[in-house]
Amino acid sequence: MSQENVLKKDVRDLTLEELSDYLVSIGEKPFRATQIFEWIYKKGAADFSAMRNLPQALRKKLAADLALGPLTVLKAEVALDETTKFLFEFRDRETVETVLIPTDTRTTICISTQAGCKFGCKFCASGIGGWSRNLDCSEIIGQILHVREHAKKHPFSHVVFMGTGEPLDNYENVLRTIRLLNSQKAMNIAARRITISTCGIIPQIRKLAQEGLQVELAVSLHGYNNDSRNILMPVNRRYKFDELIAACREYARKTGRQVTFEYILIRNVTCSEVAAKELARHLAGFECKMNLIPYNRVEEFEHEPPTKLEMLAFKTRLAELGVHATIRMPRGRDVGAACGQLRHQHKIANSV
Ligand code: SAH
Repeated sequence: MSQENVLKKDVRDLTLEELSDYLVSIGEKPFRATQIFEWIYKKGAADFSAMRNLPQALRKKLAADLALGPLTVLKAEVALDETTKFLFEFRDRETVETVLIPTDTRTTICISTQAGCKFGCKFCASGIGGWSRNLDCSEIIGQILHVREHAKKHPFSHVVFMGTGEPLDNYENVLRTIRLLNSQKAMNIAARRITISTCGIIPQIRKLAQEGLQVELAVSLHGYNNDSRNILMPVNRRYKFDELIAACREYARKTGRQVTFEYILIRNVTCSEVAAKELARHLAGFECKMNLIPYNRVEEFEHEPPTKLEMLAFKTRLAELGVHATIRMPRGRDVGAACGQLRHQHKIANSV
């Protein structure tokens, strides 16, 4: 790839207004921006030359000024349950993974927002190799555009920011992506079908509450009180358990949206009687959703998932204490679809 191409701005990093400003600056009519958006976001064009209703000269000018780079697919693995895992590579050889999850009622795309992760949760493969960089908006939305084009059998209905990285640590690019997903002139996906998952960056949760968006917020809780969360999630030393719950209550109050907590089930660690009581105490009177996620084995950690019976017993105990939770069974196990697993395996394989 030429040096020039590497330095070009990707058109998918621009809002409609920014694209329209650029077009005006080169002497074009602003409505061309809407046409270009239609080609990219509605018709899935991967090249300016395919934009047939634009004058030839403009197509050439666009290709000279802006990039519309495809992602390189290193792997696309289909699991027995049809969950499909893609490993993408960017121009600087950084890789991320994206998962397409079809179920009977919906099809979800799980996207990554950073190459690697800073937060080092003690059960997650994404943090093992550390953090490399934030993804641009074009790289985040590019994952969705690619999957839509290459998995037409499963048109997606939902998007979750639950791949590698911490979305609220790449706030501007994630918000830009959400606006493109949500915009009628771009992908036109209802905000309620978009979920941001965070390890609990409190100031950014507060900021998100002010954006006037109807997106779903999921918070990775995983610990049942401050001490247990400190052990599993180092981020808790900075943004403490009690303050996090308080910020979530405030988010729900301000936005009128229910918050979902994600809570990992690790044998002898997170599903004891004490854990159930502590969760019930901290969440008392809070109308929230709770997803229990069985721990998905990652070689570097010594944890084990509980047995099915233990999981059900924990869920029942929580319900007795007033916390209504659902167990989210893992999908795509045979293709390493737990967070960061595929990318991590790829890095190990290429590090010798
Ligand atoms: N950084 C964000 C989003 C990425 S992780 C966050 O922390 O929420 C998406 C979800 O998968 C999180 O709830 C995360 O804690 C969970 N997860 C990570 N590793 C896991 C594993 N080995 N087993 C089960 N869930 C895991």
